[in-house]
Amino acid sequence: MRIAGIELGGTKVVVAAGTGPDDLTPPVRVPTTDPASTMAAIIGALEGLRPFDAIGIASFGPLCLDPADPEGLRITKTPKPGWSQTLLVAPLAQRFGVPVYLDTDVNGAALGEGRWGAAQGLADFAYITVGTGIGVGLVVNGAPVHGLLHPEAGHILVRRDPVKDPFTGHCPFHGDCLEGLASGPAIAARVGRPAEELADDHPVWALVGDYIGQLCANLLLVTSPRRIILGGGVGQRADVRKAALDAARARLGGYVQSPVLAGDFIVAPGLGDRAGVLGALTIVSAQHTDARLS
Ligand code: ADP
Ligand code: ZN
Repeated sequence: MRIAGIELGGTKVVVAAGTGPDDLTPPVRVPTTDPASTMAAIIGALEGLRPFDAIGIASFGPLCLDPADPEGLRITKTPKPGWSQTLLVAPLAQRFGVPVYLDTDVNGAALGEGRWGAAQGLADFAYITVGTGIGVGLVVNGAPVHGLLHPEAGHILVRRDPVKDPFTGHCPFHGDCLEGLASGPAIAARVGRPAEELADDHPVWALVGDYIGQLCANLLLVTSPRRIILGGGVGQRADVRKAALDAARARLGGYVQSPVLAGDFIVAPGLGDRAGVLGALTIVSAQHTDARLS
């Protein structure tokens, strides 16, 4: 089945079509501006990729993913100007006459990594991105998790020691939630310089690693992932990955006994910069599987 994949990000959209990493058109990139112009640009890109049998969209959120919701599958309330309540599925389904499937950008990335990347062969794993925000895609029993909403684990509360870290946090909703403490903008606000300019031995990385490690420990305790993929500009730093694993182990205090925790429990992504659009392709087959099971 030839699928068109759309990675809808906060700053850019990537569109490509194919069946997988070895059979994918060169990605078409368009900037994310206002919803009307951006959707028009996406439709234009898709016209050039015809024919395809289905469309998968991996989008920034928060999203309404409930097919029974009378207002439709859409972006819900977002601080991104103009984008609240933007319908994503109906306009493309009407225009192209093929099934259109939507999931979060991080669930898409997780599914892509599960099919072709760093979580192949696993049915239970998580994908974390630590960048402009913190997002978590969760696959449990082979399926991406949705429910009342979809996982928003970037906003979990973590323990902050005000002596070691007096920074009170950057999240407009929660102050010192995980995203408020460990995202790229939170790091920049804390130290007064862009996070990517900080050397590996800067003390902030130990704090950031501890907070991400707390997330990893909590995920392990809640959904029992066999592996956690840590991506994003901040998350891909090798020192952050190592600090997160050390912190997760320390926070678990020996309670979880598994050789996996001594080895490659937290790993780098395997798909590089095509993860988003490849994830969008896998959203289609994942939801076919869901439909078959229900
Ligand atoms: P996005 O989250 O917007 O999709 P990124 O994952 O690249 O994209 O995240 C961008 C954020 O990560 C910015 O806040 C930037 O300062 C930070 N960042 C990007 N690269 C690095 C790096 N190598 N080390 C630390 N922080 C980084
Ligand atoms: Zn928050």
